[in-house]
Amino acid sequence: MAQPLTPELREALTERIRFYRDLGLTDFYRRPVELGAADPDSETGEEPSTQQQTPTAPNQPNFFGEEPAIPARKGFAAPPQVGAVVAPAERAAALQLIREDIGECTRCALHKGRHTIVFADGSPAARLMFVGEGPGADEDAQGLPFVGRAGQLLNNMITAMGLRREEVYIANVVKCRPPGNRTPEPDEANTCSPFLFRQIDVVRPQVIVALGATAATNLLGQRQPLANWRGRVHAFRGSQLIVTYHPAFLLRDPRQKKEAWADLQIAMRELGLKAPAKG
Ligand code: SF4
Repeated sequence: MAQPLTPELREALTERIRFYRDLGLTDFYRRPVELGAADPDSETGEEPSTQQQTPTAPNQPNFFGEEPAIPARKGFAAPPQVGAVVAPAERAAALQLIREDIGECTRCALHKGRHTIVFADGSPAARLMFVGEGPGADEDAQGLPFVGRAGQLLNNMITAMGLRREEVYIANVVKCRPPGNRTPEPDEANTCSPFLFRQIDVVRPQVIVALGATAATNLLGQRQPLANWRGRVHAFRGSQLIVTYHPAFLLRDPRQKKEAWADLQIAMRELGLKAPAKG
């Protein structure tokens, strides 16, 4: 059934369009679907997924032991479109423009507790991008993503792939630290993630590795147990997206490092990388 256009819904739509215009997104279209109807074509503007949303099988482990906290993106008013290709020489400036657009952002409640906006780290010409959930205390203090213990583990993962941290690009779904390192609320993630989409469109990495359920859910626009996302290559905004565990989770449960390495090997295969020889 179509959802009636109530004054509240009209106001919400207007506010959302205003927000996207703030981000520089001005081309909108209306899809012929009923609002609120199941819509496999998520707000990311990607090809419709052919995958069914299947619950975790009874004997299939859900390593997080919990449902991802970010719900599916519903078809709303204006999905962020994939941006025009930015020439490699102009990517640093284009990223700087996005950072300037963010400014001293107060668009969501996370601004209240942050010390520093954590934009990104790494090469604007990276072939590989990592996307995490949000800054923690160390990141909030230093203004860089993945610089605490989880960041050290991510550095080790990057080294194991035969790369250096300076060669990849690292960003998060939200750019301000959630209080107490809680999972970002859906409205916070949805408010901040268009900046991430713009960063992805500028960098145009060949491969994106989503670290954890929050990153996977926000990028792929569907709520699924992490186990359902792993082990496959997903098409996303012109990149190949692979899902693995967040390094903070691996610190809590090191037994899953083997599984994470299997995921990284999928990324390496897509990049044509071979693991460096040991010793
Ligand atoms: Fe702005 Fe993102 Fe920070 Fe929210 S998390 S205040 S949208 S920069």
